Amino acid sequence: MEKIKMTTPLVEMDGDEMTRVIWKMIKDELLLPFVDLKTEYYDLGLPERERTKDKVTFDSAYANQKYGVAVKCATITPNKQRVEEYNLTQMWKSPNGTIRAILDGTVFRAPILIDSIRPAVRNWKKPITIARHAYGDVYKATEYRVPGEGSAELVFKDKNGNEVFHETIYDFECPGVLQGQYNKDSSIRSFAHSCFNYAIQTKQDLWFSTKDTISKQYDQTFKLIFQEIYENDYKAKFEELGITYFYTLIDDAVARVIRSEGGYIWACKNYDGDVMSDMVSTAFGSLAMMTSVLVSPNGQYEYEAAHGTVTRHYYRYLKGEETSTNPMATIYAWSGALRKRGELDKLDSLVDFANKLEEACIDTLNDGIMTKDLVGLVTEGTKAQAVNTITFIKEIRARLEKKLA
Ligand code: NAP
Ligand code: MG
Repeated sequence: MEKIKMTTPLVEMDGDEMTRVIWKMIKDELLLPFVDLKTEYYDLGLPERERTKDKVTFDSAYANQKYGVAVKCATITPNKQRVEEYNLTQMWKSPNGTIRAILDGTVFRAPILIDSIRPAVRNWKKPITIARHAYGDVYKATEYRVPGEGSAELVFKDKNGNEVFHETIYDFECPGVLQGQYNKDSSIRSFAHSCFNYAIQTKQDLWFSTKDTISKQYDQTFKLIFQEIYENDYKAKFEELGITYFYTLIDDAVARVIRSEGGYIWACKNYDGDVMSDMVSTAFGSLAMMTSVLVSPNGQYEYEAAHGTVTRHYYRYLKGEETSTNPMATIYAWSGALRKRGELDKLDSLVDFANKLEEACIDTLNDGIMTKDLVGLVTEGTKAQAVNTITFIKEIRARLEKKLA
């Protein structure tokens, strides 16, 4: 069989631990035999980040900007223990944080659904994609533990030092707590563009929710910016595609989400997105089945799994034990990136390959062959056999070969 050709390179960001091991298995078994893979390779594994003083992470993000599409393996975000384990000269920052800051993007997370794993919410039939605005609010807040009686004020001075706003927050008569949050129009705008673009790309409705009735300046600003950008830049395209933009209060959104059958993007402010994405992914089944894509406001994409490097499995792997780590989300990172590359370069065969790769994965699971983490989640009466990672991947390969023949 002739291998499928690519024209533009895909930016490949390798990573750490168990996912690095799986990364190679996926390439060897599911990609290289079928695709004349053209990638620009960046090793974001921690030793290489240390060796290059993290330059490799920055370079990979610039390459992502240049070529438009990247696929990323999970990477270690160093903490104190990792600094010792890897003998690091610095506690290098989270690569995801660095890449997100450079691309100014929004992260969209969506579950992979199979018939035999029913979401905890009975009526959910299609994926719910959560878009989290990963900037500002409580994550960049200034906090103070108020020790006792005293007064708290909110003050804003313009760039010349003139006080243009001054209001009492509260006159404390006892100890309490205090917090100052901010966000920026530019960041909210980027968030909105990423969300509207991604809704168009995936032909799904977009929901957005805040608490603007209570937060009449802060949350209201989010609502108004989204509305303005929608009207000016996206309304016509949405109407043409038959998709809708729907704004509602966060508490109303939560109620509607639970009653819905899924199949839309739910854009959330930073904290709401943090909380709701964990709720939605747990209700859909498993973190190992969560995909994630970073979308920049000007249409650059970085695909990855939502989970980490699965350290516990890696330590067992190092001892020579077999592991049954689920490669689904990492395979979908590759299929997502290859499909997008194919769409941008008008390579139907590459798009077709990405679709067939995903079908082969789903068929394998529907045949009851799965990793250990999923066996406990399938509905009673489903035949389910736990296999190790490489066996699972080889089973996918057998089905993929048939589809491509
Ligand atoms: P994790 O790697 O997501 O794993 C947590 C646990 O979830 C695992 O021990 C495993 O449970 C289960 N799990 C996750 N993915 C799985 C899969 N594909 N197949 C089967 N089980 C899976 O999170 P972590 O242990 O908190 O973090 C490990 C490292 O990953 C950290 O160094 C962190 O910095 C990094 N991290 C990176 C990213 C990223 O690059 N995007 C994201 C998150 C974390 P059992 O052990 O019970 O089987
Ligand atoms: Mg969270």
